[in-house]
Amino acid sequence: MSAVTTSESLAGTMKLVGGELCLDFVNTVGGRIPRGAGATGSSVIADKLGAYTDLVAWSRHTRSMAEADARRLLRLAEGHPREAAAVLGRARLFREALHRTLRTLMLGRRPAAEDLARINDEVAAARKREVLAPSPGGLRWEGPDPGTCLESPLWPVGRSAAAFLTSGDLSRLRQCGGERCGWLFADRSRNRTRRWCTMEDCGNVSKVRRFRRRHSPRRV
Ligand SMILES: [Zn+2]
Repeated sequence: MSAVTTSESLAGTMKLVGGELCLDFVNTVGGRIPRGAGATGSSVIADKLGAYTDLVAWSRHTRSMAEADARRLLRLAEGHPREAAAVLGRARLFREALHRTLRTLMLGRRPAAEDLARINDEVAAARKREVLAPSPGGLRWEGPDPGTCLESPLWPVGRSAAAFLTSGDLSRLRQCGGERCGWLFADRSRNRTRRWCTMEDCGNVSKVRRFRRRHSPRRV
C-alpha cells in the first residue's frame, strides 16, 4: 500500500519553524492579517487546513502520527465524511482559539474565557482515555488507538498546547516580523534575536524592502 502522500497538501509540505508542535499547528495558514482590539484577533490568509486529509498530511509531516495510523484514518474518513468534516471544523476553531490565546499572553493580557474553554476541551479530549501502562522503564501514558478515531490528529496538539502554555515561561514566544505573515515561533536563539519565521520567506523580503526604501528616488 502506498504511503500517505503529504506532498499534495500545503499542510503536508509547510515549513516547521515553530519549535513546538502547537505552534506549527497555529502556523497552518499562509499568513495572518491582524484585526480587532489590540490585534490579538486575525484574518487568515490561505488556510492550509482545507480538508480533513490536510490535517492527516500535517500529522504525518510533523511526525505526530505513525504512517499506518494515518492510512487507517484516511480510510475511516472516506467512510465517514460528515464526521471528518466536523473534526476539521473543530481543528480550525481550536487553532484560532490557540492563536488568540498565545497572542494575548504575549501582550501580557488575560486570555478570553471562551478561548480557554475551547483549549481546555481539546486538552481534555487528548487526555480522556489515557491510561498508565507498563513500559521498560516503569510506566508510561498510553492512549487509545489513533487509527480508529477521527479526532486523533488533535490529541498531540492538545498535549503540546497544555505543556507549552503551562511551561511558566513564554518569554521566547515571538510573532514573525513579516508583513501579512503572523507565524509564531519559540525563539531558541542564544541571544533571543530571532525575528523571522524563516530568513528566506520573510527576512529577505523585509531586507529587500528596506534596501529599496533607502535607495529609491524620493517620491514627489
Ligand atoms: Zn514570516
